Order: sequence, then C-alpha cells, then structure tokens
Amino acid sequence: MDLGISLDFGSVYGLWSVSEENKKSRWAWPLGLATGVAGAALVLFRGCWHGKMSWPVRAQGYAYQVCLGCGIKRLFDEKNFQAYGPYRYDLNRLIAWDHAQREKAEPAFPPSEERPAS
Ligand SMILES: [Zn+2]
Repeated sequence: MDLGISLDFGSVYGLWSVSEENKKSRWAWPLGLATGVAGAALVLFRGCWHGKMSWPVRAQGYAYQVCLGCGIKRLFDEKNFQAYGPYRYDLNRLIAWDHAQREKAEPAFPPSEERPAS
C-alpha cells in the first residue's frame, strides 16, 4: 500500500485543476498563510506601500495618519513628529496596541491617558 503524502498531493492537484469545487480546498492553505502575513499580503494585493500618508488626524486623544492609497491607519507621535507602530485599518486596534506598549514600557507610572485635556 502506498497511501503516503505524495498520493494525497497528487489527488488534490488533479482535482483542483478540473473541479471548481475543489478550488476551495486548494485555497484553504494559501488563505491560512495569508492571515499570518496579512500586512505583507495586503501590500501584494493592493500594491500599496503606504507611501502617501495624510496629515495627522486627531481622534479619541490619539493622532494618526491615514494612507491616501488604501486608507490604512497608523499612529502618529506628535512630540517626535513621526509615525510609529503597526498599520491597521481599525483605529481601535491601534489604540489597543498603544495601550499594550505603554503598559510594557512604563510599568512604574500610574496610567494617565484618561486625564482630560483642559
Ligand atoms: Zn496604503
């Protein structure tokens, strides 16, 4: 009996090239990989390197830039006047990321983010 991995691969290959339905199983692997490198995949699919970022926008006490090409967001440090952190489409996820960074960086200081700007 020779039901090894090579036979499985062979049958998958044979099926997806003829059958529409089996395209799904063919895509299961690339999609799983894509979620791991979503940022890179996004660049590949949209052809956007976020080279043109908008002027910083303020919202919820944060400054962030928006990519004029694809609309992705990135936090902006107004003191250093430069963008930092990851690219995300969801501002709330950026804020959550920033909170996590602050907790890591300043464990000794009490949280002061909620202080109202008077
Ligand atoms: Zn972009």
